[in-house]
Amino acid sequence: MKPPAEPSAFNGLTVQRVVGDGMNFGGFQKTSLIDYPGNISCVLFLSGCNLVCPYCHNPELVRGDGPVPDYLNEAWVMDFLKTRIGLLDGIVITGGEPTLSRGIFSFSEKVKELGFKIKLDTNGTHPEVIRDLMEKRLIDYCAMDIKTDPMAYSSVFSRKPVADRIIKSIEVLMGSDVPYEFRTTCVKPLFDEEVLKAVLTRIQGARRYVLQQFHFTKLLNPSFFESGNCGFSDEEFQGFQAMASQHVRECMVR
Ligand code: SF4
Repeated sequence: MKPPAEPSAFNGLTVQRVVGDGMNFGGFQKTSLIDYPGNISCVLFLSGCNLVCPYCHNPELVRGDGPVPDYLNEAWVMDFLKTRIGLLDGIVITGGEPTLSRGIFSFSEKVKELGFKIKLDTNGTHPEVIRDLMEKRLIDYCAMDIKTDPMAYSSVFSRKPVADRIIKSIEVLMGSDVPYEFRTTCVKPLFDEEVLKAVLTRIQGARRYVLQQFHFTKLLNPSFFESGNCGFSDEEFQGFQAMASQHVRECMVR
């Protein structure tokens, strides 16, 4: 695989915002049937991210420059959830990167007190936060992205080496009894069979691995994909899925 071009072009892109209660609220979706497997949920988006994936579909959350409704804060979310008891199963906390918001612990405790399940979406760069959330039983499902071979993150996804953190998070998820999935977005030139092999060596025996299709919609860095032909065919996905299925307990294409 050719190394991606000009990672320095991403410098200065990420903007972190910290608000009073320690949660970087970035957006809210009242109902989702697809974000929490097997559950009806709402979705809370938190702003800010420490990675800069060129295919990111939430650039305004990464940059922290999107419009955030004035009313969106912890008290509003709790009041909303109280009106949805018995109607929603849970809440998805996603981003951006939610583990950057250290208020996630007290927030999750309050959500659990209301009886809702919590799914965390994470890029896996804060294994200690994921571990603590799991150990405190504050999340019920964790979806972790594995962008590429953990040893190759620094070339395009991150300005700092994160291999140790990604590998540690993989260990945390696989060592926990909290249900989880790993996810990889399959897009050229960032993914190919060699990348898949490298990822699979890290997640042997994993509970669930999801190969995600790339959609050329709103992107953090559309010029990265200027060749246009970035997706994979159904036949190629079938091949990836067949390969992965030999190494994990379940492999899905989504
Ligand atoms: S895809 Fe996720 S990890 Fe990557 S930049 Fe976007 S929010 Fe951050």
